[in-house]
Amino acid sequence: MCGIVGYIGTKHAYPILIKGLERLEYRGYDSAGVAMISESGGLNVYKAKGKVSDLKAFCEEKDTTGCAGIAHTRWATHGEPNSTNAHPHFSASGRLALIHNGIIENYITLKEKLVSRGIQFRSATDSEVLVQLVEYIMQSNGIELLEAVQVALHQVIGAYAIAILDREHPDTIICARQSSPLVVGLGNDEAFYLASDASPIAEYTDKVVYLNDGDIAVLQLGQELKVVNMDNETQTPNVKQIDVTLGQLEKGGYPYFMLKEIFEQPSCLRDCMRGRINVDADRITLSAVIDYREKLVNARRIIIVACGTSWHAGLIGKQLFESLCRIPVSVEYASEFRYRDPVIYPDDVVIAISQSGETADTLAAIELARKAGAFVFGVCNAIGASIPRQTTTGVYIHVGPEIGVASTKAFTGQVTVLSMLALCIANERRTIHGDQYKEMVKELTQIPAKMELALKTNEQIERLAPIFTYAKNCLYLGRGYNYPVALEGALKLKEISYIHAEGYPAAEMKHGPIALIDSEMPVFVIATRDRLYEKVISNIQEVRARGGRVTALVTEGDTQIQKFADHIITLPDTMDCFQPLIASIPLQLLAYHIAVCKGKDVDRPRNLAKSVTVE
Ligand code: GLU
Repeated sequence: MCGIVGYIGTKHAYPILIKGLERLEYRGYDSAGVAMISESGGLNVYKAKGKVSDLKAFCEEKDTTGCAGIAHTRWATHGEPNSTNAHPHFSASGRLALIHNGIIENYITLKEKLVSRGIQFRSATDSEVLVQLVEYIMQSNGIELLEAVQVALHQVIGAYAIAILDREHPDTIICARQSSPLVVGLGNDEAFYLASDASPIAEYTDKVVYLNDGDIAVLQLGQELKVVNMDNETQTPNVKQIDVTLGQLEKGGYPYFMLKEIFEQPSCLRDCMRGRINVDADRITLSAVIDYREKLVNARRIIIVACGTSWHAGLIGKQLFESLCRIPVSVEYASEFRYRDPVIYPDDVVIAISQSGETADTLAAIELARKAGAFVFGVCNAIGASIPRQTTTGVYIHVGPEIGVASTKAFTGQVTVLSMLALCIANERRTIHGDQYKEMVKELTQIPAKMELALKTNEQIERLAPIFTYAKNCLYLGRGYNYPVALEGALKLKEISYIHAEGYPAAEMKHGPIALIDSEMPVFVIATRDRLYEKVISNIQEVRARGGRVTALVTEGDTQIQKFADHIITLPDTMDCFQPLIASIPLQLLAYHIAVCKGKDVDRPRNLAKSVTVE
């Protein structure tokens, strides 16, 4: 949440900052702002409510000169989204400007202290307290900015990634992180780039340093990157090479990132499996399973912790691990798990799933599991993020940057990784027969081609979508492996079209939601030909008997369901456990086209932002 960008070098900072904000806009878009030290030495701060395009329009006639600046796109936690609460925030004297991602939990106490000493606040944010505190410490102790930041951060409780610009030192940006991501890019021309993730940096340099919790970095023109901690102990920056292409960061002719990412899924899953499934497609090799075989094979229980869409992927993982590996699995919302005082055994394997690898609640759940002595395994997309750094081992999903706020390719990537992991462990535990293992591995390699067939439903779904735009409520039903698909389909619709939708296990419907069904209620049923097919047909009949309007996802060649469904969407056949990878595609497309028909901004759904770095 919230995007941070910074630049200090010899080039004009403003276009770099704006482009960086555009790349990070998926992280928050209720307001945006930029601060630059101008050619004449002034500190210019411009802020606007709304999107980065509104900020750009606001800056058109302004002085945007200068080679050093910081910029921010906000996802408000404290204080309404308006231009006053937008970042950067000024210190009382106007000397410092600060941007912040995260939440300062003790901001009220700190603010009261500063107000009692005569400092006037301009905004309602928690963030402003940081810049006021730093300047207050500088002035009252007569110390320089770096030392003041160190003293201030000792007093702060909460999560932050911050960057500070100082009018008196136009050649330096100071930044720091604690539980919120921050990446420094090392330019070839001695320039420094700064961002919440590598996407705004990738077009300028491939050398980056992911700051660690507690790091304070000094980006000073012409100097080496200096990293210290709050006690001024020098930290050694670990320079990493990133591999992000510009094509991955752009829409490539699609109207929205979400649609591009839906269509990318076949190639993303090929990337996800590349190097892991051999050419004969009969064996999966995951280095994490080789390195930690004993831990994984002897797991007493698996606990999956995740949030949102990743939690839905976790529910599919549960069925895979239980049926293939015969290991009991519980799937937990990270935000509940972390505060529940859960029972965790040292021989539990905790699998943390997060696209961004920065989800605050999931990180806290990892910490809890580590303290309890469990073995913690990460499933993540963003290379170098906090989750891969804080887990013992894990598997990247390798689907490339996901920019659409409504997750699509990360979901299918997560399910693919969980499928590979379950198959590997099952093979090691001998809980599946060798022939079954080979057959399943082979089928997994066929999934991208089958997804391509599923994507051919796009035009049909585009034609169907206008029918559903009137709906106030929708029900998604599925059973077995398709129950989490129903949950995920409903979530996609809620996220981007703002239609209330519920996913339900089809048989549970008669314990409550069936009361909602009438002729106004669209019901989407995942009725592919699997172990529970006949049961789902009965559930469809129950809906029909109450006047419900059924759209069914069926397997090609199905002749039964079309007799009583209003609409049929036909999908290629696959094994039950891989069906979610196919069946989620038409539901993603359905949510997308309904939202487009309703005129919604698919990539910037209201109130949401990607990468939930606050709890
Ligand atoms: N808590 C800060 C605010 O509400 C920062 C939010 C963010 O990370 O965008 O302004």
